[in-house]
Formats: sequence, structure tokens, C-alpha cells
Amino acid sequence: MTAALTAALPDSWPAALAPDCLAVIDMPTPYLVTDLDTVAQKLAAFTSALPGVLPFYAMKCNPSPEILRTLADGGASFEIASLGELRALQRLGVDPARVLYSNPVKPPAHIAAAYAAGLWRFSFDSPNELRKIAQHAPGSAVYLRLHVDDSASSFPLSRKFGAEPHEARDLLTLARRLGLRPYGLTFHVGSQCATAAAWRQALGVCGSIMAGLLRDGIQLEMLDLGGGFPARYVGDVPSIEEIGAAVLPAVAQLLPYRPGLLAAEPGRHLVAEAGVLAATVIGREVRAGQNWLFLDVGAYHGMMETIQLPTGWDYPVRSSAPGPGRVAFTVTGPSCDSSDTMFTGLVLPAGVDVGDVLYIGSAGAYTLSYASDFNGFPPPTPVFVGAGRAAGLAAAGSGGH
Ligand SMILES: *Cc1c(COP(=O)(O)O)cnc(C)c1O
Repeated sequence: MTAALTAALPDSWPAALAPDCLAVIDMPTPYLVTDLDTVAQKLAAFTSALPGVLPFYAMKCNPSPEILRTLADGGASFEIASLGELRALQRLGVDPARVLYSNPVKPPAHIAAAYAAGLWRFSFDSPNELRKIAQHAPGSAVYLRLHVDDSASSFPLSRKFGAEPHEARDLLTLARRLGLRPYGLTFHVGSQCATAAAWRQALGVCGSIMAGLLRDGIQLEMLDLGGGFPARYVGDVPSIEEIGAAVLPAVAQLLPYRPGLLAAEPGRHLVAEAGVLAATVIGREVRAGQNWLFLDVGAYHGMMETIQLPTGWDYPVRSSAPGPGRVAFTVTGPSCDSSDTMFTGLVLPAGVDVGDVLYIGSAGAYTLSYASDFNGFPPPTPVFVGAGRAAGLAAAGSGGH
């Protein structure tokens, strides 16, 4: 192994995706390599940290068929936001009856087609959506999306969705009057949630709603913990074991009864750390006294999360450039738009230059699914290793190990 490539890889970086393994991949950048063994391990660790909680993978964060297949083989089910996602699952042989449709505001035609395909559980957060579901999926099961505190997350979601807890009783009794089955509660603590206490707090809210509903003769069948389980990027995050250790006692303590189905909708946590994005330096310039690197990918080619927050979003990055010295770079994309700039102050070897490759770690979630060919630059090519896939690449990459 070359020291420059492997120096201090973060723990989250799969050994199979060490840069010196990827360096032998004979393929033009950009490409995104996913280690399917890591995906399978993440799912297994999730299930053992949260025994009795059934994972429904939120496929929006990476819908590659190879990943969906790996997760289905590992016993996961799926959470969808659209008919297009359901069709992708059906092509893989997933039974729609096992799928949750958790988008609280759905196109009527998608509700009808999903219902016709055998999907029977729909989320909602308003009377309007309930009427839509009653019309296009009569008699189906509905679960209420609650607005919970998402301030501990990096990418909050609650501004767009979620009923207030005090509305829950009216909404679920309306569901019953409309001939629907008041099935459950769900929430989302926000994506990349940094504290396990967020789930505990949300479970407390669910517990009091459930107790109140008992007085109306409604006993819920499902409690869905949503997504938000964090992945490791550059900072510290609670492990899935720590989250499990906080959530399981909360389920026992804060709910008046245990619903038949305890669900969760992990997305990012299962796939982010399994992916590394390889990009080539196409230019190095000095702009206003600052060092700039131009890559063959930018925010619009998969690195969208770097521009979603005012503070930016950091990924672990390694470079193929050898040599001493560390210099801070502003790292931008290939397009003629300046808003595709991904990193500022990224410290890399001083000699990094045109033709060197940057390896961006923890890039398996919310990257490919966002990528376009903006300005004529192609999105990353997906590549898979592990789990017996892409045997040629796995063999090629095994030289250093
Ligand atoms: C996006 C989403 C998820 C997954 O969120 P992560 O933060 O990636 O775990 C789960 N459920 C719903 C309804 C979502 O919209």
C-alpha cells in the first residue's frame, strides 16, 4: 500500500474501498463504488441494535437495484415516496404488500396505482390527504406523520411535513369515519440526527397520543420510528448501538402498549458509508489568493448535500497525490456555474494537481440519486463490489490485501 493513499483512513471507510484498491479500477472518473458487503453489515448491525424493529429502507437515498437487492436479501422491506419507486421494487420482485408509502402528500394517481398493485399502508398528515386516500385506496390502512422536534438533525424535514400532536385524535378518528383503518403513527427526527434523545422525545409524544386514542377505542397496529439514523462523515455521531440502547427502553417505558409492528425507515445510515466517489482534478488555479481545485464532479453531479446547508457539509476526502505539505483548497465542480462549489478549506497534499484523483468517502447516500449531467458533464458511474458482484473489480482490487 502507498502511505499517501491509506494514511489515517477514517474508521467508517470500508477496507474494500481503500483508495489503493480503487486506484487499480480501470474506469474513467467520476464513478461511485459501493461495497455491498458494507451495506449488508450495516443492515445486520441495525437489526441487532434494534431487535424487534423492522427496517423499511427509505429508497430515495440510493435506489440502485444492487443495493435494493442486497437489503431485500438481508430481510429489509422498503419505504417509498412515489409510484416510480414502487415500480422499481416490483421489477426486483418485492411484494407491494410489504412496502410502506410514507410520503404524506401523494399524487392521487400514484395512490390508486399503488393500491391496485397491493400496497395497503399510506401515511398522511392532513384531512385533505385522508379524503384522497379514502377515494383512491378505500379501506386501506393509514398512519399519521407527526411533527416532532428535528433540531438535533443536520437536514431537518419537519417544516414540510407533519401534523401537530394535538391534531392526532381528530385526524385518526376522521380516518375511521372515512372507512379507513387507523393504523399507526410515524415521525422523522430529521436526517443525520445527532442525538438518540430525539427518538426518545418523539416516542413520549406518541405514547400520550396512543393513550388518548384508547379512549376512542382505537388501538394502533404500527409505530414507525422513521429515518434520521446518522452515518459517519467527518464528525462523531452516536452509533446505532447507542441509539438502540436509548430507543428500546423508551418503547417499553413511554408507550401504553406495544403495537404489533415496530418499524423504522433508515436511509442514509445503511448506505452512506458503503460508497466512495472517485473524481479527477481537471484544474488547479489561484483565485484571489486562494487555492482552487476543479473536479470532474460538482454539486450537481451528486455532491448536492454540500450546498444544502449554509455551513456546508463535509465528507472525508483522500487524494492520490503523494508528497509532503498540507494546503487548504476550495474545491469546485466542472460546470460554468459557481454554485457547484463543494468544499472550502479542504486540506490536501500541497502537490495535488491535474490528473490526480480525489476519493470522497461516505458518499453512498443522497449522491447518485441527486446527480444530473448538468452542463454536459456525466454523473458518476455506479460500480459495485462485494457480495459476489462485479467479480472482476473485486479481483482487481484485491492486490493490496
Ligand atoms: C428521507 C426519508 C427517510 C430516510 O431518512 P434518512 O435520514 O436518510 O434516514 C425515512 N422516511 C421518510 C418518510 C423519508 O422521507
